[in-house]
Amino acid sequence: MTQTRPPLIDPDRLPNRAMTDAETLLKRRTFAVERQAVLRLQAQYREAWRDIRDSMDVLPPTSSLWRNHVVATAEQRIGRLKDEVLATVERATKAALVGNYFGRVYALDVATGEDVRVNVPFLSRDILREDYYDDLIRDLLGDQWRSQYDVELDDLIVQIRRAIGTGMSNGEGMSAIQRRVRDAMGVETDRRKGFRANFNRVQVITRTTVQTVANQGALAAYKANSDILKGWSWLCARDERTCPACFGMDGKNFAFKSQQRPPPLHPNCRCTSVAWIKPDALEADTKAPARKSLRDWSRGYGMERELADFLGTK
Ligand SMILES: [Zn+2]
Repeated sequence: MTQTRPPLIDPDRLPNRAMTDAETLLKRRTFAVERQAVLRLQAQYREAWRDIRDSMDVLPPTSSLWRNHVVATAEQRIGRLKDEVLATVERATKAALVGNYFGRVYALDVATGEDVRVNVPFLSRDILREDYYDDLIRDLLGDQWRSQYDVELDDLIVQIRRAIGTGMSNGEGMSAIQRRVRDAMGVETDRRKGFRANFNRVQVITRTTVQTVANQGALAAYKANSDILKGWSWLCARDERTCPACFGMDGKNFAFKSQQRPPPLHPNCRCTSVAWIKPDALEADTKAPARKSLRDWSRGYGMERELADFLGTK
């Protein structure tokens, strides 16, 4: 069955083809970075569950000694999971930040006339230094996302403890208790059902974090080129899943002095921020394709290695 999917960016939404193509590429790659992180998180969850389950087989079940052993293993394992989750999200946000920061400069370069000088921000290498990146991320997101994850994963331990306690006091056998613990973690109960609430929350936080950083990276790139821009514009993904709030923001323009925060507007928001280019800086030929690919362009600035993670070419 063929299904017509609307393009990520409608061709008529942006002033010329080169910009549409560049924005589509950035959106695709940002979604891919998100997806990769989510798949990694799924694998990490499954592995943690396997370790906890294995710990259940070590001692004769349903003694208090057994319960203490399993709970201690679970606490330790969830602690490690926390580190793994943060490392995965940090890697994804870094790729999204770098990709959208330099990607937006690239988009500007291909969307404007050949004679227009686009600022490749002087931060180009500094932004990738760990300490600078940390500062930027802290600035952009505060410690909120970290503590959100902490709360989610601490909650897991409480639920695992409760699952074991309930199973034992019901006099359930090993497999029933294992099922309870698996459900408490939010690990898939069977292949068709997918993941339960716990994992979904972690997934939403990841997606929203990646989108936030991507749009902040874009805004930083626009500010570095404020001489050829009037500001930035809100662009929502217009399809059957778009919410009324995002539709309301769609197409709105914001000057740099505006207090408006760029997307996401809400968890799982798929809106994006595009450059609002001064008309006289635009490429005259609206149908002309980009003169260079992002990969070739980045090579010219020696940024190829840094963008490889985002472009998925590593
Ligand atoms: Zn939105």
